[in-house]
Amino acid sequence: MAKPITQITWKELEPGCVIVEPGNAREYRTGDWRTVGHPKVDTERCIKCAQCYIFCPDAAIERNEQGYFLPNLYYCKGCGICAHECPVKCIEMVPEGE
Ligand code: SF4
Ligand code: SF4
Repeated sequence: MAKPITQITWKELEPGCVIVEPGNAREYRTGDWRTVGHPKVDTERCIKCAQCYIFCPDAAIERNEQGYFLPNLYYCKGCGICAHECPVKCIEMVPEGE
C-alpha cells in the first residue's frame, strides 16, 4: 500500500524536469499548462516582421513555408507577449477551443 503523502519525505521523491539529453525539453508539451487562451494570427495583416518570434519567451513561434510566424500550441503557454509586441496588432488572444 502506498504511503500517505504527508509521510513522504523529499528524499523519496522522484526527480522531475530532468534534462537527460540535449533537446529533451521538446517532449514536455508545456502548452498543456495554458488556462486562459492562445494567440491567433491574422495572416492577411501580418507583415512577417518576426517580432513575435523574437519576443516569445518559450520559443513557441515557428516560421512556416509561406514565411508567416505562427504559434505552436503544443508549447505556447498563452502569456500574450507576442500579441502585445506585434507592431500591426494582427495577433489576438482568443479563448481555448477557438
Ligand atoms: S502567447 Fe506567449 S508563449 Fe504563446 S506564442 Fe505568444 S509569446 Fe509565445
Ligand atoms: S509580430 Fe505580428 S506582423 Fe510581425 S510576424 Fe508576428 S504576427 Fe506577423
